[in-house]
Amino acid sequence: MKDSPAEKRIHQALYYERLVDDHCACILCPRGCVIAPGSFGHCGARANAGGTLVLPYYGLISSIAIDPVEKKPLRMFLPGSLTYSVGFWHCTMDCPFCQNWEIAHPDKVERRYLEPAQLVAMALTSGCPSISFTYSEPCLHIEYLIEAMTLARSAGLKTILVTNGNLRPEPAASVLPLTDATNVDLKTWIPDRYGKILGGDIKAVKAFIALAYRLCHVEVTSLLVPGVLDTPDQIEKIARFLAGISRTIPLHITPYHEAYLWDKRPLGAAESARIAEPAFALIDHVYYQPPWLH
Ligand code: SF4
Ligand code: SF4
Repeated sequence: MKDSPAEKRIHQALYYERLVDDHCACILCPRGCVIAPGSFGHCGARANAGGTLVLPYYGLISSIAIDPVEKKPLRMFLPGSLTYSVGFWHCTMDCPFCQNWEIAHPDKVERRYLEPAQLVAMALTSGCPSISFTYSEPCLHIEYLIEAMTLARSAGLKTILVTNGNLRPEPAASVLPLTDATNVDLKTWIPDRYGKILGGDIKAVKAFIALAYRLCHVEVTSLLVPGVLDTPDQIEKIARFLAGISRTIPLHITPYHEAYLWDKRPLGAAESARIAEPAFALIDHVYYQPPWLH
């Protein structure tokens, strides 16, 4: 698709500080990149143009599909409904088992541009009661999200955010009040693995979940990945953390399959069930998906 005139506008980023020598400090995610003029941040989605942080991929949509809301996964929000699902490009994290790696870490970005108003009009035409921002990391495109979610809500659509939650408090406090329901990944309980293997920050994710509980409907997903989240002790700690906020927060425990850079064999059915088991006594809604149903 040809670039539209709108796409040629320079979109300035929110959440950055100007430093000396035209460097920019991005303060959207915990990584806190300091970006030199002419360079991109670690995620590849935010760039320094002469001392201004800009969004070279503003409004570029990677994927659109209509999914059952249970696929997000959300089990206690508009159950049985379909949701108009939209993905962007890039991600704030580097999970080596990423199942959306083609759009999270793209070699090439397709230039399919949609203004937020166009996207919301398409979602309305679909007849779905909600619009979901999902697939890679939507919060990396928070400027677009704020606009699209505001429009969607005023048009009567519910808004869903499927996110890694790896965001700083100030942007989290901007996007969550516009969100009706969110599913947040909690990928391991070991801070070192969050940082070194996944490129995220568990403290930020925990804070995001706690804030989400105050501002919207929240469900949490923990994927059983060998070498990342693979012990009952970790699931017990995750469930205890959620119970400390509210026993009513649903936890989805889901199986992984080999993808992207991670080729470790998936955990077996008996082992997966043993790892998931501690959650059932600690919180009210555990949705455990055995490997053979994946
Ligand atoms: S959003 Fe991107 S540029 Fe900003 S701190 Fe995170 S990885 Fe760096
Ligand atoms: S947070 Fe999700 S989209 Fe991003 S790298 Fe990890 S698995 Fe992929």
